[in-house]
Amino acid sequence: MERRKFIKNTAWGTLALGSLQACADNGVGVPVNVKRGANVLISTWNHGLAANEEAWKVMGEGKSALDAVEAGVRITEADPKVSSVGYGGFPDRDGVVTLDACIMDHKSNAGSVAFLQDIMHPVSVARKVMEDTPHVMLVGEGAREFALNSGFEAQNLLTPEAEKAYKKWLETADYKPVINIENHDTISMLALDAEGNLSGACTTSGAAWKMHGRVGDSPLIGAGLFVDNEVGGAAATGLGEAIIKTAGSAMVVELMRQGKSPQEACEEIVERIHNIYKDLPDLEYLQVGFIALSKSGETGSYCLRPGFNYAVCNETEGNRLIDAGFKMQ
Ligand code: ASP
Repeated sequence: MERRKFIKNTAWGTLALGSLQACADNGVGVPVNVKRGANVLISTWNHGLAANEEAWKVMGEGKSALDAVEAGVRITEADPKVSSVGYGGFPDRDGVVTLDACIMDHKSNAGSVAFLQDIMHPVSVARKVMEDTPHVMLVGEGAREFALNSGFEAQNLLTPEAEKAYKKWLETADYKPVINIENHDTISMLALDAEGNLSGACTTSGAAWKMHGRVGDSPLIGAGLFVDNEVGGAAATGLGEAIIKTAGSAMVVELMRQGKSPQEACEEIVERIHNIYKDLPDLEYLQVGFIALSKSGETGSYCLRPGFNYAVCNETEGNRLIDAGFKMQ
């Protein structure tokens, strides 16, 4: 809780400073001559605040939503204190850190990497897959080789803190995928830029202590992330298996296409997931959360149980953390 307050206050403090400059700068540190439309960002969890801050800066320089989402989530990937994404992410049950990420732009181009080792910024490798190959997805050793050949450096991603947590876990080796604020999770970000284009990115070290080789929803286009520039974008966090089995993010976007608001669409998919799992004995460990952003800049979010929060940033209200509505206690 303390950590949460700290993050919240810090980010608000930074933003407040930015707002003071807004009169002179036309935005948070944005030069007056840069064209601004209705830029909007939405990201998952507490760490979304810092990611939004960076993405906002990038959009303020007149860059695209695609550049913004990549730059934003790279902040989380590089943060050793975030134990569920990139550097500092908790390893699998064999002690190996394996990363999953994807990115999607306004032209429905998509790139993805899964089960990637030793590379701190999987989202940027995913973007390279999208831009420099005829494919959407590379995994494992092939993804690693591609990254190295593309100029990314190999490094040890297992921090001393993550290794310590792993050794502690080994004492019982009890596997329960607990997903909530306290061990906050995958960073997903959706952005609408000044040109009215949408993009999204999603990156994670996946469920801590997962089976070696396990891949969740996060790198799967349609599950962890989906963008349709005619309608909107959606992204997910939580138990990847539940999100994959319901084609979560694609479904949220499709519901928006059929006329639901981002909020209504997120609520409907959570309702569906609840209906599928409600009689299972391990429901208490299930958490799923969705964020959505429409083409017109409207945001929405919903989760299964209390504990999921998300960060929204726009010109009028700044960068703020919001507790998502939930289906059940
Ligand atoms: N959805 C991710 C996964 O299942 C992790 C998370 O967001 O909790 O790998």
